Amino acid sequence: PRKKRLVLLGATGSIGTNTLRVLRAHPDKLELVGIAGHSNWAKLAAIATEFRVPHVGIFDDASFNTARAEISAFPAGTALHHGLDGLNALATLPDADVVLVAVVGTTGLAPALAALAAGKDLALASKEILVLAGKFVMAAAREHGAALLPVDSEHNAVFQCLAGHPGSAVRRIVLTASGGAFRDWPADQLARATPADALRHPNWSMGPKITVDSATLANKGLELMEAKWLFNLQPAQCQAVLHAQSIVHCLVEFFDGTMLAQLSPPSMTFPIQHALLHPERRAGVEPPLDLARLFSLDFRPVDESRFPLLRIAREAMEAGGVAPAVYNAANEIAVAAFLQGRIPFLAIPPVVEQSLGLISPADPVDLASVLAVDADARRIAAEQLRRYSL
Ligand code: NDP
Ligand code: MG
Repeated sequence: PRKKRLVLLGATGSIGTNTLRVLRAHPDKLELVGIAGHSNWAKLAAIATEFRVPHVGIFDDASFNTARAEISAFPAGTALHHGLDGLNALATLPDADVVLVAVVGTTGLAPALAALAAGKDLALASKEILVLAGKFVMAAAREHGAALLPVDSEHNAVFQCLAGHPGSAVRRIVLTASGGAFRDWPADQLARATPADALRHPNWSMGPKITVDSATLANKGLELMEAKWLFNLQPAQCQAVLHAQSIVHCLVEFFDGTMLAQLSPPSMTFPIQHALLHPERRAGVEPPLDLARLFSLDFRPVDESRFPLLRIAREAMEAGGVAPAVYNAANEIAVAAFLQGRIPFLAIPPVVEQSLGLISPADPVDLASVLAVDADARRIAAEQLRRYSL
């Protein structure tokens, strides 16, 4: 059988780097036909050279121009693509079978929809896309008969546990949360938490935005919203539990009271490989859990008084309509400001909550209205920042 041909959007990031590890382990199964990033053209050139990738996309204008001037850094004959049009072109390459979207934020939405419309399978790491426009992404996948393969570890885990079970058998799904950098911090110290503190994640090594989201638990909030769309659940069926070891990635509870869990070491190579090789199982990049050594698994409820963004996420899901999109946009603005040292850590939740209070959560009629709400929410959140500026 021929190799699966992959386009990787966000090749230079944390998910991108782990995906390349999976590709190196299975060169007989997977072939990289396109890669893209925002501005790190030199890293894209190195990846293109190592994997002999014919199509390279660079979002940023200046970096694209530099890359064009330095074209000799790329393999001979490389086609360079530019901007959002370039990402869309990559996502619809006639040569591609599957597109992995691992671009931080919602920039990957248009390419994801373009890939589905072109009948490609979509492997999705960028949860923000489903939070923003889950209704439209799921409809596009259904309409074009394309597979949607979850890469986010918890959702990949649910996908695995659900195999062979009808959706009607599921009472609820429980996503595990490591608790992030501040899991064990007393509440009164959080006021002084710095970006460097928030970026020190105990279990996972990831990009800066999602690492801060793990520290506020907004990441888990976004994941509940993501799960609702992926698995066609009601908001109340999507829950979270604190699990410090990050070994169990989800629990799926069926109506008979049985739970299935998925276990693997806390490394993204496991869900990435699962999504890309599905339904095939092969030896992974890293060793599996070692049961010859003692380890324990513990679970405890999330303390929502310390992590209000989880409560706010549940409320946004219950409100429905565009509320999750507002949550996502306002959170992105607040996290960026926190990382720039402009607002304190504890300002992130109120910026999100106040932005939600200022936008009515009407049901979006079309994608354009969702994008308009996204833009509004960013503007409104940016105004809220002023009250908290350091
Ligand atoms: P990183 O910050 O490590 O990487 C982001 C990637 O996106 C880089 O390749 C970057 O390119 C690229 N990028 C950013 N903006 C654009 C743009 N406008 N056009 C094209 N490419 C762009 O992020 P992560 O890898 O951590 O996360 C990526 C996505 O995966 C996020 O949505 C995150 O929520 C999700 N995810 C990540 C997990 C993880 O373990 N890291 C786990 C589960 C989900 P450049 O390097 O040039 O800036
Ligand atoms: Mg996750």
